[in-house]
Amino acid sequence: MQCEVVAVGTELLLGQIVDTNSSWIGEQLALAGIDSFFQTKVGDNLDRMVEALETALSRSDAVIVTGGLGPTQDDITRDAIAKVMGVDLVRSTELVERIRAMFGSRGREMTDNNLRQADLPEGTIPNPVQPGTAPGLICEVDRGGATPKMIYAVPGVPWEMKQQMVGGVLPDLQGRAGITSVIKSRTLRTWGRSESGLAEALDAEIVRLDETGVATIAFLASGWEGIKVRVTAKAATDAEVDGVLDSEQARIMEIIGDVVFGFDDDTMESVVLDELRERGLTLGIAESLTGGLIASRITAVPGCSDVFRGAVIPYDRELKVSVLGTSDIPAVSEQMAIELAEGARRVLGADVGLAVTGVAGPTPHEGHEPGTVWIGLSINGRTDSALIDFPFDRDRVRQFTCISALSFLRNRLLGSKNADM
Ligand code: ATP
Ligand code: MG
Repeated sequence: MQCEVVAVGTELLLGQIVDTNSSWIGEQLALAGIDSFFQTKVGDNLDRMVEALETALSRSDAVIVTGGLGPTQDDITRDAIAKVMGVDLVRSTELVERIRAMFGSRGREMTDNNLRQADLPEGTIPNPVQPGTAPGLICEVDRGGATPKMIYAVPGVPWEMKQQMVGGVLPDLQGRAGITSVIKSRTLRTWGRSESGLAEALDAEIVRLDETGVATIAFLASGWEGIKVRVTAKAATDAEVDGVLDSEQARIMEIIGDVVFGFDDDTMESVVLDELRERGLTLGIAESLTGGLIASRITAVPGCSDVFRGAVIPYDRELKVSVLGTSDIPAVSEQMAIELAEGARRVLGADVGLAVTGVAGPTPHEGHEPGTVWIGLSINGRTDSALIDFPFDRDRVRQFTCISALSFLRNRLLGSKNADM
């Protein structure tokens, strides 16, 4: 079974939207054990969409088309599929009711335009999963072979697309491909070692897995999300594949456990909040060069309010003194980082004060090079600090400062005095 992806939307061609849908679908196909050798982007133009679909069907068994399922005149994926299948669009009364009910439950009136979304190319069935008003399509296309070729249409809106892929498209594809094995991944989230450093440490394990074939390891550098180490395994049953992943995770933890801060959907901020919560500690932040980025990441975690008191952004040095009560000393200094942390703890009424101060760039400040960053920490009055020199541009200095500061806090909470940041 070979399946390719066609992303529809003129805005994708113009670079106004990055085609993250295709990458996500590509990843899911690989995980599901389905080969995928082509991805195409095409604008909202009927003839060119038909051409893209014809080309895809001529060389693959199935095609997933994302986008163009909305209610407006430029949403013409339905029309293109009908043309490829050589059939008419037929309005489904069942879908009309489904969409009408959806509008009703949200207290909104359905417009006539939305009825377009109830039009199905004759002989196709809607995706069983429909989180929004756009029904997905599952279309069998007869090309004279023993089995029909498939077109799956999913919406462009990423969260709707993902639900329809997982609940409708992938099971259907796997069923048709006769795939009964289960493929699953687990991600170990790391911070504090380079990708090559991780690869070197895990070299023997990667060779061992290559020989036995039970699982694979991949590295994914993800900016200020750290470096992800992903283990993928395949087995006959769910329980079996979980067993393989558990034992592989344990082996990897033995080797690089010191830099693993979490798993799968964990983030540095979510694990730091958990560690603080476990110890009954509250957190206050003073962040200068990051201008609220750390607080923003923390407040993105649901339920952070029991731990997170708040943040102060004393960008001007004078405010460091007047708001947080620091001494009148240079902003980019160890003492300032510590005094900011103490100040945050006191002013915000927190048990833990975390502070960052430094030079984001691009020009030097107070005689310090861009990328010079001090982290200050005060846990119930016990202070600590660290100096980092980032060789990066302004954006990355600010981003990496966030995760480094949170990692510094995490390591101190765990008591690993010597661990990397
Ligand atoms: P709608 O009902 O919103 O019209 P649709 O199925 O017609 O849904 P599009 O109109 O193509 O989808 O896209 C809707 C929105 O979904 C886009 O504005 C964009 O934000 C997002 N989107 C569309 N295609 C992609 C893609 N390939 N990758 C990432 N995001 C996308
Ligand atoms: Mg649309």
